[in-house]
Amino acid sequence: MAGQKMLKFVDVARDMPEKRPPDLRRDDFHEIYAEYADDKAKEQSSRCSQCGVPYCQSHCPLHNNIPDWLRMTAEGRLQEAYELSQATNTFPEICGRICPQDRLCEGNCVIEQSGHGTVTIGSVEKYITDTAFEEGWVKPIRPHTERSESVGIIGAGPAGLAAADMLRRAGLQVTVYDRYDRGGGLLTYGIPGFKLEKDVVMRRMAQLEDGGVEFVLNCDVGDDISFDAIRGKHESVLIATGVYKTRALEAPGVGSDGIVRAIDYLTASNRKSFGDDVEEFDSGELNADGKSVVVIGGGDTAMDCVRTAVRQGARSVKCLYRRDEANMPGSLREVQNAKEEGVEFVWLSAPKGFTTRSDMAGTAVEVVGGVMVQKMRLGAPDATGRQMPELVEGSDYVEEADLVVQALGFEPEDIPTLWGVPELEVTRWGTIKAEFTTGQTSLEGVFAAGDIVRGASLVVWAIRDGRDAAAAILDYVDQGASVVAAE
Ligand SMILES: Cc1cc2nc3c(=O)[nH]c(=O)nc-3n(C[C@H](O)[C@H](O)[C@H](O)COP(=O)(O)OP(=O)(O)OC[C@H]3O[C@@H](n4cnc5c(N)ncnc54)[C@H](O)[C@@H]3O)c2cc1C
Ligand code: SF4
Repeated sequence: MAGQKMLKFVDVARDMPEKRPPDLRRDDFHEIYAEYADDKAKEQSSRCSQCGVPYCQSHCPLHNNIPDWLRMTAEGRLQEAYELSQATNTFPEICGRICPQDRLCEGNCVIEQSGHGTVTIGSVEKYITDTAFEEGWVKPIRPHTERSESVGIIGAGPAGLAAADMLRRAGLQVTVYDRYDRGGGLLTYGIPGFKLEKDVVMRRMAQLEDGGVEFVLNCDVGDDISFDAIRGKHESVLIATGVYKTRALEAPGVGSDGIVRAIDYLTASNRKSFGDDVEEFDSGELNADGKSVVVIGGGDTAMDCVRTAVRQGARSVKCLYRRDEANMPGSLREVQNAKEEGVEFVWLSAPKGFTTRSDMAGTAVEVVGGVMVQKMRLGAPDATGRQMPELVEGSDYVEEADLVVQALGFEPEDIPTLWGVPELEVTRWGTIKAEFTTGQTSLEGVFAAGDIVRGASLVVWAIRDGRDAAAAILDYVDQGASVVAAE
């Protein structure tokens, strides 16, 4: 991969500052791609006290050997630091950019806890691997021995790709099926480019393809090919399809034009970054430019939507959340970033319905004009100890909006029904029932990993699951399993 040309990628925030609202035309967005020079990496790494109780490591889902690669970086031994970092993490440059470090490694750094500010572990991790790509230290995937057994992976998100990487390195024949036209899953079409540049994801796709992983894209399993056909083709199958069913609001007026789903809004924006023709974006349907935007929800997806709307040139951006700031499910750092970028948070507020406006004379289409907001207060705790929001009677008002984005979370699709495999067991939440640490499902030779097992989670956990499942698949194949015939 040495010297590989990065794909052209246009990011509105970085490349088109004139598109930002006037008071936001500045250069101090908290972008992860800000230059991180060698001396800063060394300076940060040398702050690690080598404390001997590496809580950072135990709170990293991949148990990365953080203290050791920080020490190597501080000593200028960057290539060794890279070798050590990639031994436990398939995509360190991606985790370095988008892990919620404040909840994981950095939040548990003893220097942070003693009040002196964490070592910026994620930024160093990103820096080490970006440098490794630039310097040609990232080796192509070239298995020592080719094996005849093959594995089919459904889903090219981080779980599927991490497994593909490990299995291919072990010499197995790997085919990844995905319904989208590009691999990467939510790394490509969910997470915005200002958090994770798309050329960084495509660089990994190119590395896997170059290493012999076959990608069958635009292939919706259950529609374009049956699950049984895939099982019949491969010794083992990994299901890594993520969770995509949007939790939808049920309120009067919710079907009006201008009320959209977060995943559609973010996908359109990401597609545009690739230079694709996106009709819904160009028509304004999925574009916040010049609009009053209200995003409903308090998680990281909501933060991605508000920050995308700011960058698209929205007139105003508000985030409506039914609890208070202390109870937001999203990363505190993301909330802080959004605030600094001009997003207004409307706490303790829930949508009751939507008003429509009649500027579409001559058509029967209802167009959203505002959100009917009802104020809430926090009441008694529920079974989990979290305070339940309660209605404050008589406090309703209308929040003006001409684009409303619903970001209320995701649920799994009903895979056993969609794929015609009722014997594939699921939990009461609809996620696939899989053995902890191996991902083994109720079907022989079929494993599962990532969000489809955990429910909506994190990239780093998807990588961990993909790696664990790959190890279990290798064991399974090594035991000489014969091809499981389609039923
Ligand atoms: C907007 C957004 C922002 C996020 N930001 C962050 C963040 O900053 N940091 C973080 O750690 N996590 C973040 N997450 C969560 C993270 O993206 C997911 O936890 C992670 O991507 C899950 O990986 P996965 O491989 O299980 O699934 P996915 O990434 O969802 O990939 C699943 C793949 O399976 C494919 N697929 C599904 N069904 C089929 C089918 N029937 N046939 C063929 N292919 C199929 C899909 O097309 C997709 O490519 C974010 C999530 C969202 C929605
Ligand atoms: S993978 Fe994530 S949690 Fe682990 S060290 Fe890297 S940034 Fe921290």
